[in-house]
Amino acid sequence: MEIGRLREGVRARSKLLLKGPGGDDVLPGEAAEAVFRAASSLRPSVILLGATRNGRETASRLAAKLGWRCASEVSKVTAKAGELAAERSVYAGKVVASVACALPAVATVKTGSYQRSDAEGGTVEEADVGAVDGAVRLLSRKKKEAGGPDLKKARVIVSAGRGVKRKEDLPLLEGLARDMGGALGCSRPLSSDLGWLPEECHIGLTGVTVKPEVYVAVGISGQLQHIAGMKDSKIVVAINTDRSAPIFQASDYGIVGDLYQVVPALRKALAARKGPAPAA
Ligand SMILES: Cc1cc2nc3c(=O)[nH]c(=O)nc-3n(C[C@H](O)[C@H](O)[C@H](O)COP(=O)(O)OP(=O)(O)OC[C@H]3O[C@@H](n4cnc5c(N)ncnc54)[C@H](O)[C@@H]3O)c2cc1C
Repeated sequence: MEIGRLREGVRARSKLLLKGPGGDDVLPGEAAEAVFRAASSLRPSVILLGATRNGRETASRLAAKLGWRCASEVSKVTAKAGELAAERSVYAGKVVASVACALPAVATVKTGSYQRSDAEGGTVEEADVGAVDGAVRLLSRKKKEAGGPDLKKARVIVSAGRGVKRKEDLPLLEGLARDMGGALGCSRPLSSDLGWLPEECHIGLTGVTVKPEVYVAVGISGQLQHIAGMKDSKIVVAINTDRSAPIFQASDYGIVGDLYQVVPALRKALAARKGPAPAA
C-alpha cells in the first residue's frame, strides 16, 4: 500500500513513500496512523496535506494523535522561529485572515494555492509502516452515477433558486438553458434541501465554482455562499421579483420581475431570433 508522500520540496527534492498492505483504498484513519508512525521517528516540524475531503479528515486525526496544532485550509505557509504562519480565506473569500500557531503543526493546504513544481530528479525513500488499523474498514466501493451536467465546462449557465415554486417548473429554466446553448445549475436549497436537482448542479461555497461566459441567476437572492461560486462569471444576469435582492449587486444586467413571466418572454424573444418555436 502506497500511502503517500510525506516530504517533497523543490529544494529537498526528496519523497518518502509509506508502504504497507492494502492497495489504493486507503481510508483517512489508516493514512493518519501510517503518517503518525513515520512522523514519530522522523520528527518533522510541519506536516502538510491537501485540503481535500480525505486530507481534512486525515489531518485532524493525525494532529490529534500527535498532540500537535492543526491549521486548516491555509495558503502561503511559512514555518520559522518555532511558528507556522499562513493565510486563510474566510467569509466566502471576501476576507483574508492571517493565522499562526506554534510548531510542530499539521496543516491542510488549500488546493490550487501552489503551482506544481517542475523540478526533476531527486530521491525517493521508502518506509514500510506495516499493517495499520484505522478502526474503520472499507467494505465495498460503488461508482456514483453521473447525475448532472459538467457545469465547469458550460459556456452559459441558467441557475435556478428558491424563487422556483415547484420541481415541475424546472423544465421552464431547462428550456431557457437549452435555448442559450447552456446547462442548468441551481442554488444549494434546490439540490441539498429539496433534492430537485443532483448535488453536482449546486453552485457556491459548498458546491461547484463556475466561470461561464454568461450566468443567469433566476429566483436566486444572492447570498454570500452562492456568490462565492459564480462571482468570476463574465456576464451575470439576474431575474428577481425583489429589487433589493443582493444578487443585483453582483450582476451586470438585472430584470426585476416574476420569473414565470420573464423566462417565457426571454425564450420567446430567443426563438424569434432563431426561427422555429422551442419545445416546452
Ligand atoms: C455553511 C453554508 C454553506 C452554504 N453554501 C451554499 C452554496 O454553496 N450555494 C448556495 O447557493 N447556497 C449556499 N448556502 C445557502 C445560502 O446561505 C442561501 O440560503 C441560499 O443560497 C439561498 O438560495 P436561494 O437564493 O435560491 O433562495 P432564497 O434566499 O430563498 O431566495 C429566493 C429568491 O427568489 C426570489 N423570488 C421569489 N419568487 C420569485 C419569482 N416568482 N420570480 C423571481 N424571483 C423570485 C426572492 O425575491 C428571493 O430573492 C450555504 C449556507 C451555509 C450556512
